[in-house]
Amino acid sequence: MGVSASWYLAAAGHEVSVLERRAGPGLETSFANGGQISASHAEPWAKPSVIPKLARWLGREDAPLLFRPRADWAQWEWGLRFLRECMPGRFERHSRALAGLARYSRACLRALREQTGIRYDHLARGILHFATSQQDFEALARHAEAMRPLGVEREVKSAAECVALEPALAYSEQRVLGGAYAPQDESGDAYRFTRELAALAARKGVIFRYGVSVEALEPAGDVVSAVRAEDGERYLADAYVVALGSYSPLLLEPLRIRIPVYPLKGYSITLPLGPAEAVAAPSVSLTDEAFKIVISRLGERLRAAGTAELAGYDTSVNEVRCAAILRRVRQLFPQLGAVSVVENWAGLRPATPSNLPLIGRSALRNLYLNTGHGTLGWTLACGSGRALADLVSGRRPDVAFDFLA
Ligand SMILES: Cc1cc2nc3c(=O)[nH]c(=O)nc-3n(C[C@H](O)[C@H](O)[C@H](O)COP(=O)(O)OP(=O)(O)OC[C@H]3O[C@@H](n4cnc5c(N)ncnc54)[C@H](O)[C@@H]3O)c2cc1C
Repeated sequence: MGVSASWYLAAAGHEVSVLERRAGPGLETSFANGGQISASHAEPWAKPSVIPKLARWLGREDAPLLFRPRADWAQWEWGLRFLRECMPGRFERHSRALAGLARYSRACLRALREQTGIRYDHLARGILHFATSQQDFEALARHAEAMRPLGVEREVKSAAECVALEPALAYSEQRVLGGAYAPQDESGDAYRFTRELAALAARKGVIFRYGVSVEALEPAGDVVSAVRAEDGERYLADAYVVALGSYSPLLLEPLRIRIPVYPLKGYSITLPLGPAEAVAAPSVSLTDEAFKIVISRLGERLRAAGTAELAGYDTSVNEVRCAAILRRVRQLFPQLGAVSVVENWAGLRPATPSNLPLIGRSALRNLYLNTGHGTLGWTLACGSGRALADLVSGRRPDVAFDFLA
């Protein structure tokens, strides 16, 4: 979010500096995500049908959604608000908002690609959301119909059509029974994208200061007057954008700006593909409805990611959860043989209970937010950055969304 905002702000003629605590861009949540630009599947996780599943998943170490109770009011509050967002009506409202922003974001990404030639192992082969149970398939088909009036293009595919689209699924030990295919969706390496875009932004004049940990925003009346770094250095600007992912609420809290962002931990595994495996592995990006994992081909690697854990700011890698993802990948693609994982990874999605991001001006006049993109940060990155740059420039963004004002 920070890098894409910096790009669009510079394109709008602003002088921009990015303060980043790490040694480079994209080393936290944007590092090894699922790689999907899932504009046609930009939906909140909170929906009525999740509630019965939550009970089933409770206490299961390999559950797709896991609540690890802590003595942390923010966690409980987030959980309760998530349950409220599962109420009928809200899912439809939030889906409509997300669908518009996601489509806009995909168009911004394509325009950026054409303009700059940016490369990030991108594939524009669509996303196939598949089911391995009849019940899931019927739900996917019903849902594809329901989303059509929102302008969301999803084609219902039979089992044979799924395999024709992605022949690698033919070998699955659990038969694929059908799916919903979004031909316009894409995939790619979010980390590589972030790194490349930062390099392009730097060429446009954006100053990247790495190794700078922001400690506080200094308020003065109804504005922010400076950013203070851990080493005591102060940075002054006309406007400030908070895009600290899951850490955004911690910086805003002392300013009495409370945002409902909480870390929703997820895991990914990355498998290197040798020449034989590269032929046998899927290249259409996939979403497995039963296990809630996404699978994307990133050049000579296969990435599988998913699961959500409400467990605070703990970034440790849980081997049980990564092993569950690997087991499922092996079950779906036994033809890959004993291909081994090169990297188990965990990241903290900056999640809001509704899945709606927070983009726009805060209660302080020159303080802007671009955060809370949760499960969809890569999908929404370009559109959010572009819209934010419009708002900072005093222009109305080209997309309808409930921006902060
Ligand atoms: C397992 C998993 C799979 C996912 N799959 C997908 C997917 O397929 N498609 C999709 O669209 N999205 C996906 N996501 C979500 C997406 O990755 C995130 O929404 C996105 O990366 C969030 O970007 P961000 O810029 O808000 O946060 P980050 O990428 O975490 O960036 C925040 C930056 O702020 C810096 N920072 C924080 N605090 C400070 C401080 N005090 N001072 C200085 N710097 C600071 C951090 O170092 C970091 O670089 C997935 C996420 C996970 C975990």
